[in-house]
Amino acid sequence: MYIVQIASECAPVIKAGGLGDVVYGLSRELEVRGHCVELILPMYDNMRYDHIWGLHEAYRDLWVPWYGSTVHCSVFCGWVHGRLCFFIRPHSADNYFDRGCYYGCKDDNMRFAFFSKAALEFLQQANKKPDVIHCHDWQTGLVPVMLFEIYKWNGMWHQRVCYTIHNFKHQGFGGVEVLWATGLNQEGYYFQPDRLQDNFNPFIINYMKGGIVYSNHVNTVSPHHAWEARFSEEGCGLQSTLEQHHYKFGGILNGIDYNIWNPELDTYIPYPYGPETFEVKQLNKKALRERLGLPDDPSKPIVCYIGRLDGQKGVHLVHHSMYYALSRGAQFVLLGSGTEASINDWFGHEKEFLSTNPNIHLELGFNEELSHLIYAGADMIVVPSNYEPCGLTQIISLKYGTVPVVRGVGGLVNTVFDWDYDQQHSPEERNGFVFYQSDNVALESALGRAIDLWYNAPDYFQKLALQGMAYDYSWRDPGEKYVGIYEFIRDKFEFPAPEPEPEATDADGAIADPDATTSSAELPIAELDATDSDAEPAIAEE
Ligand code: ADP
Repeated sequence: MYIVQIASECAPVIKAGGLGDVVYGLSRELEVRGHCVELILPMYDNMRYDHIWGLHEAYRDLWVPWYGSTVHCSVFCGWVHGRLCFFIRPHSADNYFDRGCYYGCKDDNMRFAFFSKAALEFLQQANKKPDVIHCHDWQTGLVPVMLFEIYKWNGMWHQRVCYTIHNFKHQGFGGVEVLWATGLNQEGYYFQPDRLQDNFNPFIINYMKGGIVYSNHVNTVSPHHAWEARFSEEGCGLQSTLEQHHYKFGGILNGIDYNIWNPELDTYIPYPYGPETFEVKQLNKKALRERLGLPDDPSKPIVCYIGRLDGQKGVHLVHHSMYYALSRGAQFVLLGSGTEASINDWFGHEKEFLSTNPNIHLELGFNEELSHLIYAGADMIVVPSNYEPCGLTQIISLKYGTVPVVRGVGGLVNTVFDWDYDQQHSPEERNGFVFYQSDNVALESALGRAIDLWYNAPDYFQKLALQGMAYDYSWRDPGEKYVGIYEFIRDKFEFPAPEPEPEATDADGAIADPDATTSSAELPIAELDATDSDAEPAIAEE
Protein backbone atom coordinates (compact mmCIF):
# COMPACT_ATOMS: atom_id res chain seq x y z
CA MET A 1 0.00 0.00 0.00
CA TYR A 2 1.07 3.56 -0.62
CA ILE A 3 0.49 5.78 2.43
CA VAL A 4 1.15 9.48 2.83
CA GLN A 5 1.27 10.96 6.31
CA ILE A 6 0.45 14.66 6.51
CA ALA A 7 1.40 16.06 9.89
CA SER A 8 2.81 19.07 11.69
CA GLU A 9 5.47 17.01 13.53
CA CYS A 10 7.78 14.07 12.99
CA ALA A 11 10.37 13.13 15.62
CA PRO A 12 13.18 13.79 16.02
CA VAL A 13 13.30 16.49 13.38
CA ILE A 14 10.12 18.26 14.53
CA LYS A 15 8.94 17.30 17.98
CA ALA A 16 6.86 19.24 20.47
CA GLY A 17 5.36 16.16 22.13
CA GLY A 18 3.99 12.70 21.49
CA LEU A 19 2.58 13.51 18.04
CA GLY A 20 6.10 13.64 16.61
CA ASP A 21 6.99 10.25 18.12
CA VAL A 22 3.82 8.69 16.77
CA VAL A 23 4.18 9.98 13.22
CA TYR A 24 7.76 8.73 13.03
CA GLY A 25 7.20 5.41 14.82
CA LEU A 26 4.07 4.47 12.90
CA SER A 27 5.69 5.36 9.56
CA ARG A 28 8.66 3.18 10.36
CA GLU A 29 6.47 0.26 11.38
CA LEU A 30 4.45 0.55 8.17
CA GLU A 31 7.64 0.46 6.12
CA VAL A 32 8.91 -2.57 8.03
CA ARG A 33 5.64 -4.22 7.03
CA GLY A 34 6.45 -3.55 3.39
CA HIS A 35 4.32 -0.50 2.72
CA CYS A 36 5.50 2.59 0.92
CA VAL A 37 5.29 5.60 3.22
CA GLU A 38 5.99 9.26 2.56
CA LEU A 39 5.58 12.17 4.92
CA ILE A 40 4.59 15.75 4.17
CA LEU A 41 5.65 18.28 6.78
CA PRO A 42 6.04 22.04 7.09
CA MET A 43 9.60 23.27 6.69
CA TYR A 44 10.06 25.13 9.96
CA ASP A 45 13.15 27.27 10.34
CA ASN A 46 13.83 25.89 13.84
CA MET A 47 13.50 22.16 13.17
CA ARG A 48 16.44 19.83 13.84
CA TYR A 49 18.15 19.96 10.44
CA ASP A 50 20.93 17.78 11.86
CA HIS A 51 18.50 14.84 11.78
CA ILE A 52 17.77 15.14 8.04
CA TRP A 53 19.94 13.30 5.53
CA GLY A 54 20.28 14.38 1.91
CA LEU A 55 18.04 17.42 2.14
CA HIS A 56 17.56 18.91 -1.32
CA GLU A 57 15.09 20.96 -3.26
CA ALA A 58 12.92 18.41 -5.02
CA TYR A 59 10.22 20.69 -6.50
CA ARG A 60 11.22 24.26 -7.09
CA ASP A 61 7.88 25.65 -8.16
CA LEU A 62 4.80 24.62 -6.29
CA TRP A 63 2.14 27.30 -6.77
CA VAL A 64 -0.49 27.00 -4.06
CA PRO A 65 -3.86 28.69 -4.61
CA TRP A 66 -4.47 31.01 -1.69
CA TYR A 67 -6.98 33.85 -1.36
CA GLY A 68 -7.83 33.70 -5.03
CA SER A 69 -4.16 34.17 -5.95
CA THR A 70 -1.20 31.80 -5.61
CA VAL A 71 1.73 31.46 -3.20
CA HIS A 72 5.05 30.28 -4.52
CA CYS A 73 6.47 27.33 -2.52
CA SER A 74 9.41 24.98 -2.79
CA VAL A 75 9.30 21.39 -1.67
CA PHE A 76 12.44 19.98 -0.09
CA CYS A 77 13.05 16.30 0.26
CA GLY A 78 15.21 14.38 2.69
CA TRP A 79 15.42 11.31 4.90
CA VAL A 80 14.72 11.47 8.61
CA HIS A 81 16.34 8.33 9.99
CA GLY A 82 15.25 6.47 6.88
CA ARG A 83 11.80 8.01 6.42
CA LEU A 84 11.23 9.90 3.18
CA CYS A 85 9.98 13.37 4.07
CA PHE A 86 8.81 16.27 1.93
CA PHE A 87 9.05 19.67 3.56
CA ILE A 88 6.89 22.49 2.25
CA ARG A 89 8.47 25.90 2.26
CA PRO A 90 6.32 28.87 1.24
CA HIS A 91 8.00 32.00 -0.11
CA SER A 92 5.59 34.63 1.05
CA ALA A 93 5.61 37.67 3.25
CA ASP A 94 3.56 35.76 5.82
CA ASN A 95 6.61 33.68 6.72
CA TYR A 96 4.33 30.95 7.98
CA PHE A 97 7.06 28.57 9.10
CA ASP A 98 9.93 30.94 9.79
CA ARG A 99 8.80 31.92 13.25
CA GLY A 100 11.36 30.16 15.45
CA CYS A 101 8.58 27.96 16.88
CA TYR A 102 6.23 25.22 15.79
CA TYR A 103 3.05 26.48 17.42
CA GLY A 104 1.83 29.36 19.50
CA CYS A 105 1.43 32.08 16.85
CA LYS A 106 -1.71 34.17 16.60
CA ASP A 107 -2.30 33.01 13.04
CA ASP A 108 -1.72 29.28 13.67
CA ASN A 109 -5.09 28.54 12.10
CA MET A 110 -4.05 30.20 8.83
CA ARG A 111 -0.55 28.67 8.96
CA PHE A 112 -1.90 25.14 9.10
CA ALA A 113 -4.81 25.76 6.75
CA PHE A 114 -2.15 26.85 4.28
CA PHE A 115 -0.02 23.81 5.02
CA SER A 116 -3.01 21.50 4.46
CA LYS A 117 -3.80 23.18 1.16
CA ALA A 118 -0.15 23.08 0.06
CA ALA A 119 0.16 19.39 0.96
CA LEU A 120 -2.82 18.49 -1.22
CA GLU A 121 -1.65 20.75 -4.00
CA PHE A 122 1.74 19.04 -3.85
CA LEU A 123 0.17 15.57 -4.08
CA GLN A 124 -1.88 16.66 -7.03
CA GLN A 125 0.85 18.52 -8.93
CA ALA A 126 3.43 15.79 -8.29
CA ASN A 127 0.85 13.29 -9.49
CA LYS A 128 1.15 11.22 -6.33
CA LYS A 129 -1.72 8.80 -5.84
CA PRO A 130 -1.52 7.31 -2.36
CA ASP A 131 -4.07 4.71 -1.37
CA VAL A 132 -4.45 6.37 2.01
CA ILE A 133 -3.70 9.81 3.36
CA HIS A 134 -3.22 9.72 7.11
CA CYS A 135 -3.81 13.09 8.79
CA HIS A 136 -3.14 14.04 12.38
CA ASP A 137 -4.80 16.48 14.76
CA TRP A 138 -6.43 19.84 14.08
CA GLN A 139 -3.55 21.14 12.01
CA THR A 140 -4.55 18.82 9.16
CA GLY A 141 -8.29 18.61 9.82
CA LEU A 142 -9.02 20.55 6.63
CA VAL A 143 -7.16 18.04 4.44
CA PRO A 144 -10.09 15.61 4.10
CA VAL A 145 -12.48 18.54 3.66
CA MET A 146 -10.51 19.94 0.74
CA LEU A 147 -9.80 16.48 -0.64
CA PHE A 148 -13.45 15.56 -0.89
CA GLU A 149 -14.71 19.01 -1.83
CA ILE A 150 -12.02 20.20 -4.23
CA TYR A 151 -9.21 17.78 -5.06
CA LYS A 152 -11.45 14.82 -5.68
CA TRP A 153 -12.58 16.70 -8.77
CA ASN A 154 -8.99 17.27 -9.83
CA GLY A 155 -7.94 13.66 -10.18
CA MET A 156 -7.73 12.55 -6.55
CA TRP A 157 -10.80 10.40 -6.73
CA HIS A 158 -9.50 7.26 -5.11
CA GLN A 159 -7.63 8.63 -2.12
CA ARG A 160 -9.04 7.74 1.31
CA VAL A 161 -8.38 9.45 4.61
CA CYS A 162 -7.62 8.12 8.06
CA TYR A 163 -7.74 10.92 10.64
CA THR A 164 -6.11 10.49 14.04
CA ILE A 165 -6.93 12.81 16.91
CA HIS A 166 -4.11 13.08 19.42
CA ASN A 167 -5.67 15.84 21.51
CA PHE A 168 -9.29 16.99 21.46
CA LYS A 169 -8.46 20.13 23.40
CA HIS A 170 -6.94 21.90 20.41
CA GLN A 171 -9.42 21.89 17.56
CA GLY A 172 -8.43 24.76 15.26
CA PHE A 173 -10.93 27.51 14.59
CA GLY A 174 -11.38 30.11 11.91
CA GLY A 175 -13.86 32.40 10.25
CA VAL A 176 -14.95 32.86 6.66
CA GLU A 177 -11.45 34.00 5.78
CA VAL A 178 -10.29 30.38 6.03
CA LEU A 179 -12.90 29.36 3.48
CA TRP A 180 -11.89 32.17 1.13
CA ALA A 181 -8.18 31.53 1.54
CA THR A 182 -8.43 27.80 0.87
CA GLY A 183 -10.84 28.11 -2.03
CA LEU A 184 -13.60 26.26 -0.20
CA ASN A 185 -15.59 29.52 -0.32
CA GLN A 186 -19.33 28.87 0.04
CA GLU A 187 -19.96 30.11 3.56
CA GLY A 188 -23.57 29.03 3.66
CA TYR A 189 -22.61 25.53 2.72
CA TYR A 190 -19.85 24.98 5.27
CA PHE A 191 -21.43 26.90 8.13
CA GLN A 192 -23.82 24.03 8.71
CA PRO A 193 -24.01 21.88 11.87
CA ASP A 194 -23.36 18.73 9.86
CA ARG A 195 -20.29 20.21 8.17
CA LEU A 196 -17.71 22.58 9.61
CA GLN A 197 -19.74 24.85 11.87
CA ASP A 198 -18.50 24.74 15.43
CA ASN A 199 -20.92 23.03 17.81
CA PHE A 200 -20.94 26.00 20.19
CA ASN A 201 -20.07 29.10 18.25
CA PRO A 202 -22.12 29.30 15.06
CA PHE A 203 -19.88 32.02 13.65
CA ILE A 204 -16.72 29.94 13.35
CA ILE A 205 -15.64 26.79 11.59
CA ASN A 206 -13.93 23.96 13.43
CA TYR A 207 -11.06 22.19 11.64
CA MET A 208 -11.17 19.07 13.81
CA LYS A 209 -14.88 18.71 13.29
CA GLY A 210 -14.22 18.94 9.54
CA GLY A 211 -11.67 16.14 9.91
CA ILE A 212 -14.20 13.95 11.69
CA VAL A 213 -17.06 14.64 9.29
CA TYR A 214 -15.09 14.16 6.08
CA SER A 215 -12.60 11.38 6.85
CA ASN A 216 -13.26 7.76 6.04
CA HIS A 217 -12.00 6.62 9.41
CA VAL A 218 -11.37 8.57 12.62
CA ASN A 219 -9.56 7.39 15.69
CA THR A 220 -8.01 8.66 18.83
CA VAL A 221 -4.94 7.21 20.45
CA SER A 222 -6.26 4.81 23.06
CA PRO A 223 -9.44 2.76 23.46
CA HIS A 224 -10.26 4.33 26.82
CA HIS A 225 -9.88 7.86 25.51
CA ALA A 226 -12.15 6.98 22.58
CA TRP A 227 -14.79 6.12 25.12
CA GLU A 228 -14.10 9.27 27.16
CA ALA A 229 -14.23 11.49 24.09
CA ARG A 230 -17.58 10.13 23.00
CA PHE A 231 -19.31 9.92 26.34
CA SER A 232 -17.75 12.56 28.59
CA GLU A 233 -16.60 16.14 28.47
CA GLU A 234 -13.20 14.91 27.28
CA GLY A 235 -14.67 15.21 23.79
CA CYS A 236 -14.37 18.99 24.31
CA GLY A 237 -17.68 19.71 22.65
CA LEU A 238 -17.31 17.23 19.79
CA GLN A 239 -19.29 14.45 21.52
CA SER A 240 -22.36 14.95 19.33
CA THR A 241 -20.23 14.91 16.18
CA LEU A 242 -18.54 11.69 17.33
CA GLU A 243 -21.92 10.24 18.14
CA GLN A 244 -23.16 11.04 14.67
CA HIS A 245 -20.07 9.43 13.14
CA HIS A 246 -19.65 6.67 15.70
CA TYR A 247 -19.55 3.94 13.07
CA LYS A 248 -16.18 5.15 11.83
CA PHE A 249 -14.67 6.13 15.18
CA GLY A 250 -12.50 4.09 17.56
CA GLY A 251 -9.31 4.07 19.60
CA ILE A 252 -5.92 2.55 18.82
CA LEU A 253 -3.29 2.60 21.52
CA ASN A 254 -0.07 4.32 20.44
CA GLY A 255 3.12 2.35 20.41
CA ILE A 256 6.70 3.51 20.82
CA ASP A 257 9.63 2.80 18.56
CA TYR A 258 11.80 0.26 20.37
CA ASN A 259 14.75 1.16 18.15
CA ILE A 260 14.76 4.58 19.75
CA TRP A 261 13.25 3.95 23.16
CA ASN A 262 15.18 0.91 24.26
CA PRO A 263 17.70 0.91 27.11
CA GLU A 264 19.63 -1.88 25.39
CA LEU A 265 20.24 0.20 22.25
CA ASP A 266 19.96 3.77 23.48
CA THR A 267 22.99 5.78 22.40
CA TYR A 268 22.05 8.71 24.63
CA ILE A 269 22.64 6.73 27.83
CA PRO A 270 26.13 5.86 29.04
CA TYR A 271 25.35 2.34 30.25
CA PRO A 272 22.98 0.27 28.11
CA TYR A 273 20.99 -2.32 30.04
CA GLY A 274 18.08 -4.70 29.73
CA PRO A 275 15.98 -6.94 31.97
CA GLU A 276 18.88 -9.40 32.21
CA THR A 277 21.29 -6.68 33.29
CA PHE A 278 18.93 -4.57 35.34
CA GLU A 279 21.59 -3.74 37.92
CA VAL A 280 23.33 -1.59 35.26
CA LYS A 281 20.44 0.88 35.62
CA GLN A 282 22.17 1.97 38.86
CA LEU A 283 25.12 3.24 36.82
CA ASN A 284 22.78 5.42 34.78
CA LYS A 285 21.26 6.67 38.03
CA LYS A 286 24.72 7.68 39.14
CA ALA A 287 25.41 9.32 35.76
CA LEU A 288 22.15 11.25 35.99
CA ARG A 289 23.06 12.51 39.44
CA GLU A 290 26.48 13.53 38.22
CA ARG A 291 25.05 15.34 35.22
CA LEU A 292 22.52 17.28 37.29
CA GLY A 293 24.65 17.81 40.38
CA LEU A 294 22.51 15.73 42.75
CA PRO A 295 24.31 14.07 45.70
CA ASP A 296 25.16 10.44 44.98
CA ASP A 297 23.23 8.97 47.87
CA PRO A 298 22.26 5.32 47.28
CA SER A 299 19.70 5.47 50.08
CA LYS A 300 17.44 7.78 48.05
CA PRO A 301 15.12 6.94 45.17
CA ILE A 302 14.82 9.36 42.23
CA VAL A 303 11.32 10.42 41.23
CA CYS A 304 10.99 12.24 37.91
CA TYR A 305 8.56 14.11 35.71
CA ILE A 306 9.11 14.52 31.96
CA GLY A 307 6.55 16.34 29.89
CA ARG A 308 4.97 19.54 28.82
CA LEU A 309 4.13 21.93 31.64
CA ASP A 310 0.53 22.43 30.73
CA GLY A 311 -2.86 22.35 32.43
CA GLN A 312 -3.50 19.02 30.68
CA LYS A 313 -0.61 17.42 32.54
CA GLY A 314 -1.93 18.22 36.04
CA VAL A 315 0.81 20.70 36.84
CA HIS A 316 -0.60 21.36 40.32
CA LEU A 317 0.02 17.68 41.09
CA VAL A 318 3.45 17.73 39.43
CA HIS A 319 4.23 20.61 41.75
CA HIS A 320 2.91 18.77 44.78
CA SER A 321 4.81 15.61 43.88
CA MET A 322 8.10 17.56 43.99
CA TYR A 323 7.54 18.62 47.58
CA TYR A 324 6.03 15.30 48.61
CA ALA A 325 8.99 13.35 47.19
CA LEU A 326 11.43 15.64 49.03
CA SER A 327 9.46 15.23 52.25
CA ARG A 328 9.83 11.46 51.89
CA GLY A 329 13.59 11.72 51.52
CA ALA A 330 13.59 11.12 47.75
CA GLN A 331 15.30 13.13 45.03
CA PHE A 332 13.30 14.77 42.25
CA VAL A 333 14.15 15.59 38.64
CA LEU A 334 11.84 17.56 36.39
CA LEU A 335 12.28 18.09 32.65
CA GLY A 336 9.54 20.23 31.22
CA SER A 337 8.63 23.16 29.09
CA GLY A 338 5.42 25.04 28.65
CA THR A 339 3.78 27.43 26.27
CA GLU A 340 1.77 29.29 28.92
CA ALA A 341 3.67 32.17 30.45
CA SER A 342 1.96 31.81 33.84
CA ILE A 343 3.00 28.16 34.21
CA ASN A 344 6.52 28.84 32.96
CA ASP A 345 6.87 31.69 35.45
CA TRP A 346 5.55 29.51 38.24
CA PHE A 347 8.08 26.76 37.64
CA GLY A 348 10.78 29.36 37.01
CA HIS A 349 10.15 30.73 40.50
CA GLU A 350 10.17 27.23 41.96
CA LYS A 351 13.51 26.56 40.34
CA GLU A 352 14.93 29.67 41.96
CA PHE A 353 13.29 28.95 45.30
CA LEU A 354 14.62 25.38 45.37
CA SER A 355 18.06 26.21 44.01
CA THR A 356 19.70 25.66 47.39
CA ASN A 357 18.17 22.22 47.84
CA PRO A 358 20.66 19.70 46.43
CA ASN A 359 18.07 16.92 46.07
CA ILE A 360 15.96 18.48 43.36
CA HIS A 361 16.73 19.63 39.85
CA LEU A 362 14.27 21.44 37.59
CA GLU A 363 15.34 21.56 33.95
CA LEU A 364 13.05 23.96 32.15
CA GLY A 365 13.15 23.53 28.39
CA PHE A 366 13.04 20.82 25.78
CA ASN A 367 15.98 18.41 25.78
CA GLU A 368 15.58 15.14 23.93
CA GLU A 369 19.00 13.76 24.91
CA LEU A 370 18.55 14.48 28.61
CA SER A 371 15.10 12.89 28.58
CA HIS A 372 16.69 9.53 27.68
CA LEU A 373 19.10 9.72 30.60
CA ILE A 374 16.29 10.60 33.00
CA TYR A 375 14.14 7.67 31.82
CA ALA A 376 17.17 5.42 32.37
CA GLY A 377 18.33 6.88 35.68
CA ALA A 378 15.11 7.52 37.60
CA ASP A 379 13.35 4.93 39.76
CA MET A 380 9.83 6.21 39.20
CA ILE A 381 7.97 8.75 37.09
CA VAL A 382 4.82 10.68 37.97
CA VAL A 383 2.16 11.23 35.30
CA PRO A 384 -0.70 12.96 37.14
CA SER A 385 -2.54 14.18 34.01
CA ASN A 386 -5.95 15.81 34.10
CA TYR A 387 -6.60 14.04 30.82
CA GLU A 388 -4.28 11.96 28.68
CA PRO A 389 -5.32 10.71 25.22
CA CYS A 390 -2.58 8.07 25.31
CA GLY A 391 0.56 9.29 27.06
CA LEU A 392 3.95 8.11 25.93
CA THR A 393 6.07 8.95 28.97
CA GLN A 394 4.63 6.08 31.03
CA ILE A 395 5.10 3.68 28.10
CA ILE A 396 8.71 4.76 27.62
CA SER A 397 9.32 4.52 31.38
CA LEU A 398 8.03 0.96 31.47
CA LYS A 399 10.60 -0.03 28.86
CA TYR A 400 13.35 1.58 30.97
CA GLY A 401 12.27 -0.16 34.17
CA THR A 402 11.16 3.15 35.66
CA VAL A 403 7.95 2.55 37.59
CA PRO A 404 5.04 4.80 36.54
CA VAL A 405 2.77 6.46 39.09
CA VAL A 406 -0.19 7.69 37.07
CA ARG A 407 -3.67 9.12 37.29
CA GLY A 408 -6.21 6.65 35.90
CA VAL A 409 -7.42 8.54 32.82
CA GLY A 410 -7.29 8.00 29.05
CA GLY A 411 -4.47 5.85 27.74
CA LEU A 412 -2.95 5.60 31.22
CA VAL A 413 -5.83 3.27 32.08
CA ASN A 414 -4.92 1.04 29.13
CA THR A 415 -1.22 0.82 29.98
CA VAL A 416 -0.60 0.99 33.75
CA PHE A 417 -1.99 -1.55 36.22
CA ASP A 418 -1.81 -0.96 39.92
CA TRP A 419 0.58 -3.10 41.97
CA ASP A 420 -1.80 -3.39 44.93
CA TYR A 421 -5.32 -2.99 43.63
CA ASP A 422 -5.70 -3.92 39.97
CA GLN A 423 -8.42 -6.54 39.66
CA GLN A 424 -8.10 -7.27 35.97
CA HIS A 425 -4.46 -8.28 35.94
CA SER A 426 -2.67 -10.96 37.87
CA PRO A 427 0.03 -9.82 40.32
CA GLU A 428 2.65 -10.79 37.69
CA GLU A 429 1.05 -8.48 35.13
CA ARG A 430 0.95 -5.38 37.30
CA ASN A 431 3.39 -2.66 36.43
CA GLY A 432 2.84 0.59 38.35
CA PHE A 433 0.70 2.64 40.69
CA VAL A 434 -2.61 4.32 39.87
CA PHE A 435 -4.71 6.99 41.57
CA TYR A 436 -7.94 8.52 40.39
CA GLN A 437 -8.88 11.79 42.07
CA SER A 438 -7.08 14.91 40.96
CA ASP A 439 -5.97 16.07 44.40
CA ASN A 440 -2.89 15.95 46.61
CA VAL A 441 -4.22 13.19 48.85
CA ALA A 442 -4.84 10.88 45.92
CA LEU A 443 -1.40 11.58 44.47
CA GLU A 444 0.22 10.91 47.84
CA SER A 445 -1.68 7.64 48.20
CA ALA A 446 -0.06 6.27 45.04
CA LEU A 447 3.34 7.97 45.12
CA GLY A 448 3.57 7.13 48.81
CA ARG A 449 2.99 3.43 48.09
CA ALA A 450 5.66 3.52 45.37
CA ILE A 451 8.20 5.19 47.66
CA ASP A 452 7.33 2.82 50.52
CA LEU A 453 7.89 -0.17 48.29
CA TRP A 454 11.27 1.23 47.16
CA TYR A 455 12.40 1.76 50.75
CA ASN A 456 10.86 -1.27 52.44
CA ALA A 457 10.84 -4.01 49.81
CA PRO A 458 13.51 -3.27 47.18
CA ASP A 459 13.26 -6.79 45.76
CA TYR A 460 9.57 -6.35 45.12
CA PHE A 461 10.19 -2.91 43.66
CA GLN A 462 12.66 -4.43 41.23
CA LYS A 463 10.20 -7.22 40.41
CA LEU A 464 7.60 -4.58 39.60
CA ALA A 465 10.06 -2.68 37.39
CA LEU A 466 10.95 -5.89 35.54
CA GLN A 467 7.29 -6.74 35.05
CA GLY A 468 6.90 -3.34 33.39
CA MET A 469 9.88 -4.01 31.12
CA ALA A 470 8.25 -7.23 29.95
CA TYR A 471 5.33 -5.40 28.31
CA ASP A 472 5.35 -5.04 24.56
CA TYR A 473 4.13 -1.55 23.73
CA SER A 474 5.95 -1.44 20.42
CA TRP A 475 4.28 -0.46 17.15
CA ARG A 476 3.74 -4.11 16.24
CA ASP A 477 0.10 -4.38 17.35
CA PRO A 478 -0.98 -0.82 16.59
CA GLY A 479 0.78 -1.02 13.22
CA GLU A 480 -1.28 -4.08 12.35
CA LYS A 481 -4.45 -2.30 13.40
CA TYR A 482 -3.71 0.76 11.27
CA VAL A 483 -2.95 -1.44 8.27
CA GLY A 484 -6.31 -3.14 8.82
CA ILE A 485 -8.02 0.22 8.79
CA TYR A 486 -6.16 1.44 5.73
CA GLU A 487 -7.11 -1.71 3.84
CA PHE A 488 -10.67 -1.40 4.99
CA ILE A 489 -11.11 2.19 3.84
CA ARG A 490 -9.24 1.54 0.61
CA ASP A 491 -11.35 -1.46 -0.30
CA LYS A 492 -14.74 -0.53 1.09
CA PHE A 493 -15.14 2.92 -0.34
CA GLU A 494 -15.29 2.39 -4.03
CA PHE A 495 -16.61 5.62 -5.45
CA PRO A 496 -18.48 5.47 -8.71
CA ALA A 497 -16.82 6.79 -11.86
CA PRO A 498 -15.99 10.47 -11.59
CA GLU A 499 -18.90 12.82 -12.06
CA PRO A 500 -18.48 16.17 -13.75
CA GLU A 501 -17.31 18.86 -11.41
CA PRO A 502 -20.17 20.87 -9.94
CA GLU A 503 -20.19 24.55 -10.78
CA ALA A 504 -20.92 25.76 -7.31
CA THR A 505 -17.48 27.11 -6.33
CA ASP A 506 -18.12 30.67 -5.39
CA ALA A 507 -14.86 32.34 -6.28
CA ASP A 508 -15.63 35.75 -4.87
CA GLY A 509 -16.70 34.33 -1.55
CA ALA A 510 -20.33 35.32 -1.81
CA ILE A 511 -22.77 33.12 0.05
CA ALA A 512 -23.82 30.30 -2.21
CA ASP A 513 -27.11 28.49 -2.05
CA PRO A 514 -26.40 25.71 0.45
CA ASP A 515 -28.69 23.36 -1.41
CA ALA A 516 -26.82 23.81 -4.63
CA THR A 517 -23.91 21.49 -3.90
CA THR A 518 -25.00 18.99 -1.30
CA SER A 519 -24.32 16.10 -3.62
CA SER A 520 -20.53 16.34 -3.49
CA ALA A 521 -20.28 16.91 0.23
CA GLU A 522 -22.56 14.08 1.06
CA LEU A 523 -20.42 11.68 -0.85
CA PRO A 524 -17.93 10.73 1.88
CA ILE A 525 -20.63 10.79 4.51
CA ALA A 526 -23.13 8.78 2.51
CA GLU A 527 -20.48 6.30 1.45
CA LEU A 528 -19.48 5.86 5.02
CA ASP A 529 -22.97 4.86 5.98
CA ALA A 530 -22.07 1.62 4.29
CA THR A 531 -19.69 0.86 7.14
CA ASP A 532 -22.52 0.74 9.61
CA SER A 533 -22.89 -2.88 8.78
CA ASP A 534 -21.21 -6.10 9.71
CA ALA A 535 -18.33 -4.98 7.52
CA GLU A 536 -17.23 -2.59 10.26
CA PRO A 537 -13.54 -3.18 11.02
CA ALA A 538 -12.97 -5.25 14.10
CA ILE A 539 -9.80 -3.28 14.67
CA ALA A 540 -11.59 -0.11 15.68
CA GLU A 541 -11.93 -0.68 19.38
CA GLU A 542 -13.83 1.50 21.79
P1 ADP B 1 2.08 15.01 24.81
O1 ADP B 1 2.02 14.52 23.42
O2 ADP B 1 0.75 15.35 25.40
O3 ADP B 1 3.07 16.11 25.00
P2 ADP B 1 3.08 12.36 25.46
O4 ADP B 1 3.30 11.69 26.76
O5 ADP B 1 2.18 11.68 24.49
O6 ADP B 1 2.63 13.84 25.76
O7 ADP B 1 4.48 12.52 24.71
C1 ADP B 1 5.50 13.28 25.26
C2 ADP B 1 6.78 13.05 24.45
O8 ADP B 1 7.55 14.26 24.47
C3 ADP B 1 7.67 12.00 25.06
O9 ADP B 1 8.50 11.45 24.05
C4 ADP B 1 8.52 12.81 26.05
O10 ADP B 1 9.75 12.17 26.35
C5 ADP B 1 8.74 14.07 25.23
N1 ADP B 1 8.94 15.29 26.02
C6 ADP B 1 7.99 16.02 26.64
N2 ADP B 1 8.54 17.09 27.23
C7 ADP B 1 9.86 17.04 26.95
C8 ADP B 1 10.98 17.88 27.28
N3 ADP B 1 10.83 18.99 27.98
N4 ADP B 1 12.19 17.53 26.82
C9 ADP B 1 12.35 16.39 26.09
N5 ADP B 1 11.35 15.56 25.76
C10 ADP B 1 10.12 15.89 26.18
